[in-house]
Amino acid sequence: MSKFTDKTVIITGGGSGIGRAMSFLFAKNGANVHLVDLDVESANQVVEQINREGGIAQAHSCDVSDQDQVVALLNDFDRVDILINNAGISHIGRADNTSQSDFDRVYQVNVKGVYNMLYACLPIMKKQKGAVIINMASIAAHVGLTDRFAYSMSKGAIAAMTLSVARDYIDYNIRCNSISPARVRTPFVDGFIANNYAGQEEQMFKKLSDSQPIKRMAQPEEIAALALYLASEEASFITGTDYPIDGGFITLNN
Ligand code: NAD
Repeated sequence: MSKFTDKTVIITGGGSGIGRAMSFLFAKNGANVHLVDLDVESANQVVEQINREGGIAQAHSCDVSDQDQVVALLNDFDRVDILINNAGISHIGRADNTSQSDFDRVYQVNVKGVYNMLYACLPIMKKQKGAVIINMASIAAHVGLTDRFAYSMSKGAIAAMTLSVARDYIDYNIRCNSISPARVRTPFVDGFIANNYAGQEEQMFKKLSDSQPIKRMAQPEEIAALALYLASEEASFITGTDYPIDGGFITLNN
C-alpha cells in the first residue's frame, strides 16, 4: 500500500481504543499524526510511544463538541490530508428512559463533534483540492440494537452526514466514507460493561462476544487496518460508502 509520508492526519479520540490503534498504524506508515482528544494525558502517552518508535505525532487537548475550541485548533493547520472522526461516547437506554440531558450529551459529542470537525477542516481541504474523511459509525446505524436509542440516533446521523459530505465535496477531490464496526474490544466496551453490568462482567463479555456470528469481538487494529486502506491511494475510487466490519453481525445473524 502507498506510504503516508508527509500526510497530515487528524484522529479525534486518538488517545484510546480504535483511535489509538489508528494513530499507531498511520504513524508507522509515515504520516504526521495529530491526536485530538479530551483526555490529553492518554493522547500524550500514545504520542510518546509513537515518537520513541521513530514516528511523528502530536497531541491536542480539545473537546470536539465545542466549536470554538475546534475552530481555534484548526487555525494552526494549513493542511489536513486525512480526517478521522472517531471520538465518540456510548449510552444505554430506550426512548422512554433516556433523559434529555443524556440524549443531548450523546448528540453533542457523537453528532455535533463530527459536524464541528467537518466545519473547521473542509475549508482547508477545499483549498488544497483533495482529502479523505473517515467517520466512525456503527452497526447501530444499520440494525435495531436493544437499549441503544440515543447511540443509534447518533450513528444514523453519521451515516447520513457521510453521504451528504461525499456528495457536496466530490468536485474538490474529497472522499468521505464511514466504518461501521460491531463490538471492538476497547476501553469503551469494557467501560460500559463495568458501568452497566457490575458483577456480571464476565457473562456480559461472553454475551457480547457471542452476538457476533464469528463469536469474538474485533481488535482495534483490525478497524485501523480498514481505515488505513480507505485513506490510501488504492481506495481512490471509493466514496460515499459505509463499510461494516462486524464478524457477520448485520448479514449473518439469523
Ligand atoms: P474509546 O472510549 O476507547 O475512545 C474514545 C476516545 O474519544 C477517548 O480517548 C475519549 O477521551 C475521546 N473523546 C470522548 N469524548 C470526546 C470529546 N468530546 N472530544 C474529544 N475527544 C473525546 O472508544 P472506542 O471504542 O475506541 O470507539 C471509537 C469510536 O468507534 C466511537 O465513535 C465509537 O462509537 C465507535 N465504535 C466503537 C465500537 C466498539 O465496540 N468499541 C463499535 C462501533 C463503533
